[in-house]
Amino acid sequence: MLTLDLHPSGRHFLQIPGPSPVPDRLLRAISLPTIDHRGPEFGALGRKVVAGMQQVFQTRHPVAIYPASGTGAWEAALVNTLSPGDAVLMVETGHFATLWRKMATRLGIEAEFLALPGTDAQTGLPNAWRHGVPVALVEERLRKDREHRIQSVCVVHNETSTGVTSDIAAVRRAIDAARHPALLMVDTISGLASADYRHDEWGVDVTISGSQKGLMLPPGISFNALSPRALERSRSARLPRSYWGWDEIVEMSQTGYWPYTPNTNLLYGLAEAQEMILGQGLPVVFARHRRWGAGVRAAVRAWGLPTQCADDERHSPVLTGVVTPAGVDADALRALIHQRFDLSLGAGLGKLKGRMFRIGHLGDCNDLTLMAALAGVEMGLKLGGVPLAGSGVQAAMEHFAATPQG
Ligand SMILES: *Cc1c(COP(=O)(O)O)cnc(C)c1O
Repeated sequence: MLTLDLHPSGRHFLQIPGPSPVPDRLLRAISLPTIDHRGPEFGALGRKVVAGMQQVFQTRHPVAIYPASGTGAWEAALVNTLSPGDAVLMVETGHFATLWRKMATRLGIEAEFLALPGTDAQTGLPNAWRHGVPVALVEERLRKDREHRIQSVCVVHNETSTGVTSDIAAVRRAIDAARHPALLMVDTISGLASADYRHDEWGVDVTISGSQKGLMLPPGISFNALSPRALERSRSARLPRSYWGWDEIVEMSQTGYWPYTPNTNLLYGLAEAQEMILGQGLPVVFARHRRWGAGVRAAVRAWGLPTQCADDERHSPVLTGVVTPAGVDADALRALIHQRFDLSLGAGLGKLKGRMFRIGHLGDCNDLTLMAALAGVEMGLKLGGVPLAGSGVQAAMEHFAATPQG
């Protein structure tokens, strides 16, 4: 149990790439009294959040909202569109892509896992975990699938385990170039409302997202944005589904209600988050995160450490993965930073365990909170005996001072 004297003063620095720090305005919205989820007031809220999510996903088509974590919405995407034994093509971009594939396998789907081969000479880490989706390999694989056994191509937009973002429009072009009928399913659980994302324009059939990352809310809501083709596919798909079924949830959401009890208070928060995000305008929100990402990368460069993302074009605006030198245990470093400075950093996951840490730059964040976080990291790196080429804090200060917010 937390006793008062163990509780540090000031705010904890939640610098993991989700859950992200929740703005006070959203916490206040969530604290309102819970209302009748079948009453008239609720219907207005339900319709408002669904319409707002269509704007955030940049889609004119239905969005299903689940009282569940992002993982639930992954399952919803799979069980609504596939039948037992169906084949899907997934792409190994990191830990979350790996978990999605594990889920597909557990559901009785034949999941082929495509990966960029080899390891990187500089870091010894797998290339697949340092680059985005290898679009040419996807096209080549689909061209070989002459009988069209592959039902879906499933990719992660913003790989939260690495800090690499993939070009989703290019994946769609690859599917079309191969003249393949596979659906395109995209996880942007950590990208939505921070990194540019366009469900309709990019030709995505199912987009999966969640509340606790770019939307700045606590965990507990997740989403499926749909296409007409995905809805059509769901009518013949035979995997068992009940709670996740699109049919009931999409039909009822048109009136602002759910087939079961939705998480009312989080939906208050969602309505408020939409006002913040759409009020500023998506382009402003995206530019803010890109600018933060550039500032954090300036710090990492000045320290002389590699970023996990090895492709300049594909750096995530949401988080930055920092590779620690050989022999430095990144988990021990994170523990030291947490203990000394009350700052939480993201762990290296899966194949990256102990090799890197992740700095989130999303949620309730600004130049000065980011500067404080970078100061905590720099002090920790020095205390951990990591040799640094220079001051990342100095470099980030210069970056932020020289590039005013748009
Ligand atoms: C966080 C995350 C998930 C998992 O979502 P949960 O809400 O933890 O179930 C899946 N994919 C990506 C890319 C994520 O960032």
